[in-house]
Amino acid sequence: MNLYALIQSRFPSDRSKPCLMLPDGRAVSYAMLEQGVGRAAAKLRADGVKPGDRVAAQVEKSVGTLMLYLATLQVGAIYAPLNTAYTDAELDYFIADLEPRLTIRDIRPFAGASHAFEPDFVITPREAGDTAAIIYTSGTTGRSKGAMLSHGNLASNAEALIQTWGYTADDVLLHALPIFHVHGLFISLHCALMTGSPMIWLAKFDDAEVIAQLPRATVMMGVPTFYTRLLANPDFTREAASHMRVFISGSAPLLEGTFAEFEARTGQRILERYGMSEAIIITSNPLEGDRVPGSVGLPLPGVELRIAGDEVGVIEIKGPSVFSGYWRNPEKTAEEFTPDGFFKTGDVGRRDADGRVWITGRAKDLIISGGYNVYPKEIELVLDALPGVTESAVIGVPHPDFGEGVVAVVIGAGVESALIAAAREKLAAFKTPKRVLFVDELPRNAMGKVQKNLLRERYRDMFKT
Ligand code: AMP
Repeated sequence: MNLYALIQSRFPSDRSKPCLMLPDGRAVSYAMLEQGVGRAAAKLRADGVKPGDRVAAQVEKSVGTLMLYLATLQVGAIYAPLNTAYTDAELDYFIADLEPRLTIRDIRPFAGASHAFEPDFVITPREAGDTAAIIYTSGTTGRSKGAMLSHGNLASNAEALIQTWGYTADDVLLHALPIFHVHGLFISLHCALMTGSPMIWLAKFDDAEVIAQLPRATVMMGVPTFYTRLLANPDFTREAASHMRVFISGSAPLLEGTFAEFEARTGQRILERYGMSEAIIITSNPLEGDRVPGSVGLPLPGVELRIAGDEVGVIEIKGPSVFSGYWRNPEKTAEEFTPDGFFKTGDVGRRDADGRVWITGRAKDLIISGGYNVYPKEIELVLDALPGVTESAVIGVPHPDFGEGVVAVVIGAGVESALIAAAREKLAAFKTPKRVLFVDELPRNAMGKVQKNLLRERYRDMFKT
C-alpha cells in the first residue's frame, strides 16, 4: 500500500484537467503532474535512492517541490521537508539526524536534471506501517524531534478529512500555506489530490493576492494569522468571500474575537480544527452543525480521545493517524506514549457534555506561581476580552517570591495598572498578571504560533531584585 498509488488512483480520469492553477494564469494539468512525478522518480532512482532512504528537502514552494514529494513516495523513500527559515547551523543538526541519501536545497537543478529522464511509472510497494515522511516538530520548546508518519497514517487521515469536510471533485482549494509542514503538505494537498480537484497554488500568503483569487476558490485552509490579515484588509468583504464553501483554520488557536469579526464581515463561520505533526488532524468542528468558537470540535472518525485527569488534563489520543514514533529516538517515543498505547499530546484540555474538545493550554506552558497551577490560556481569554486588547500571551518568569510570576505580553493599548485591575475582577489573585507589557507584535514561528520561549527569554530578569 504505497500512498502515491492511492493518490494517483484518485486523479481524474480526464488527466487534462487542471491540478495546479497559478496566479499568472498558467495551469499544471494532472497529466503534467503525473509525468513530472515520473521523471523525478526516475532521477531519484538514478541517484541511487532506495526504499527507506531519506530525501531531505529544504526548498521553496514550487511545482517541482510538489513533484519531488510525490516521487519520493513513489520510490518508497522517506520525505523529510525542512523549514526554509532554518539557518545552515540548524540544518546541520537535521542532516546529522536524518543521514539522508539526498539533500536538496535548491529545487531548480533537480527539476532541470529530471527533465532529461523518461517518466518512470513503477511504484515501489510499501506496507501501511512503512514510514513515508519524517516531520520535525516545529518545537516552540525543546529540541526538534522527527515524527515518523507512515503511508497508512497519511492515507487514513486524508480519507477522514475528505469525509468530514465534505470535500469533492468540484472543490477548488486556495493553497497559500508553506509545504514543509503537515498543514500545507498533507492536510491541504491530500484533500485536493485525492479528489482529483484543482488548487490555486500561491507561493506564499499575500492578503491582496488571496482576495483576488477567492472568487475562483471554494475552500481555504489557513493559520489564524491568515484570517486576521484578511480582516485587516478593507477589500476583504462579504462579496469577496461569497463564492467560498468553507474557511478552515488550525495550527494555532483561533481567537474568539477573530471568529466573531470574520462572521460579522463575511457571514461565514470559520471551521476550526486541531492537529499536530505527530497525528495530523485529531479533531474538527463539524461541516454541518454548530461550529463553536473556542472549541476545536469533535474527534475525527477512528480517533479515540481522552483527558488524563479529572476534568482538565493532558489530551491523549489513539487512532490510525497517530505516528509510530520519533526517528531514532526510542526513549522519547516511549515517554510520550501511555502503557495502553495512547499518545500524550502535551496539549491540556477538557471535553464538554456534547463531547466537544476545548484546548486550555499546553502542559509545558503551565505556570506554577506560589505553588498554584496557572494555565496561561485561561488568563489570555480574560485579557483578550478586555477593551483595548487585541491579543495576549501569558508567560511565567522567575520570581524571587513565587517561583514564577505571571506576566502578560499584550498587543493593544492601555494603562498597565488598569488592565491588571480589570483582570483581577475576573481572576483569582494568584492568576492575575503581576505585570502587563504592551508590544506591537508577538514573536511567531512559521505556522503562526506564538514563541513563548522567546518571550520567557526576553523577560526573564523582570522580577530580579
Ligand atoms: P505542529 O506539530 O507544529 O503542527 O504543532 C501542533 C500544536 O499546535 C498542537 O499540539 C497544539 O498545541 C497547536 N494547535 C494546532 N491546532 C490548534 C488549534 N486549533 N487550537 C489550538 N492549538 C492548536
